[in-house]
Amino acid sequence: MANNQWKFETQVIHGAQFPDQWKCTTVAPIYQSASHRFETAEELSDVFAGKKQGFIYQRLRNPTNDTLEKKMTLLEGGLESVVTGSGMAAITDALLAICMAGDEIVSGNSLFMSTYLLFNNVFKKLGITVKLVESADLNAWKAAVNDKTKALFVETIGNPKMDVPDIKALADLAHAHRAPLVVDNTMATPWMFRPFEFGADIVLHSTTKYLNGHGSAVGGVVIDSGKFDFALDKYPDFKLFKERKGNLAYIDKVWREIHINFGTSQAPLHSFLTMIGLDTLVLRMERHVSNAAKVAEYLDKHPKVKWVNFPGLPKSPAHAMAKKQFQGKGYGGMLAFGLESEKACFDFIRNVKLIYHLANLGDCKTLVIHPWSSQYINFTEDVRRANGITPDLVRVSVGIEAIDDILEDLDQALKKV
Ligand SMILES: *Cc1c(COP(=O)(O)O)cnc(C)c1O
Repeated sequence: MANNQWKFETQVIHGAQFPDQWKCTTVAPIYQSASHRFETAEELSDVFAGKKQGFIYQRLRNPTNDTLEKKMTLLEGGLESVVTGSGMAAITDALLAICMAGDEIVSGNSLFMSTYLLFNNVFKKLGITVKLVESADLNAWKAAVNDKTKALFVETIGNPKMDVPDIKALADLAHAHRAPLVVDNTMATPWMFRPFEFGADIVLHSTTKYLNGHGSAVGGVVIDSGKFDFALDKYPDFKLFKERKGNLAYIDKVWREIHINFGTSQAPLHSFLTMIGLDTLVLRMERHVSNAAKVAEYLDKHPKVKWVNFPGLPKSPAHAMAKKQFQGKGYGGMLAFGLESEKACFDFIRNVKLIYHLANLGDCKTLVIHPWSSQYINFTEDVRRANGITPDLVRVSVGIEAIDDILEDLDQALKKV
């Protein structure tokens, strides 16, 4: 059914969809079943042995999840995907399939809060060392990467630091050390940026954000380009997977070794809701990026606003890289701005009316939060600063409402600061 000539806007709706197999419904059915029934012992045996494709049990694979996997593979231009119960589950699956005790990962330091905690607490406990470097400083990466490095990890746009690393240069650096580049592309979505085209090897998302777009389901996905060769002298535990699956070895390892056994599976209802959201991804993203640019411009001129951090502003240190990398699509839907003090931020947040105050991003609704006193409250000063979190910072995830209404709400709340 899928026509490879279709443009992204069409693929996002019709690509990798097989309505004939769904009794011709136009949305993928929700296979809400813990397990699947088989007619014969021979058949189930063949599926367990991997001789035949099939659905056994929801934690392993599920037809609704499978539909989203095929869609995400197509949209990122990869080879194969695994959907997961959350973005954090995707990061866990993606990296534990590569690393074991004694290994090193080099990661950008502008990280989603739970990713930071996963690396610094959980991975450390498992004997995996994650070295953090300034995400947009290529020299810092060069100094940290060595032949022991098993993977490089980076977010396309850090938040709320709003920094934009050079993905092509990081991919080249990774490959010079025979390591894969793993990119968390949540903030850009494949509409704005496709990391595989810039040399990345593995892409993952929290689908909770822009891909779902409605704040209605938590989820994640790991997508493999299939191009990275996990050489056996460096990655000896890939042996079985390479023998069994060739260039599908990585995704098979993610799935068979980590996903199934850690139980990081996605509820089929969540895949269904994510796919409903995906249908309108392009329209939403176009509006997100144009609204965010207008909000940034408005705040930048506001007398009570001390600074605005948005890659779309020419004065942003990330502007040149963002412009080159996102190829005119835009600069994302997120920004941060500074007020006089922490109290001023609290005054502002107390007074927003249309805008929601909550911990999420990428929703069609405009959202604000004061990260210093919320997500990052239990972090040391050093970690907060490395992540660009200061007491005067408000983060905005700009939604798709009428721009006039967003600006008016910002205006009336700022008046009360
Ligand atoms: C939200 C987010 C995650 C974690 O995703 P969950 O779905 O909340 O588990 C990871 N990376 C980025 C960039 C995020 O924004």
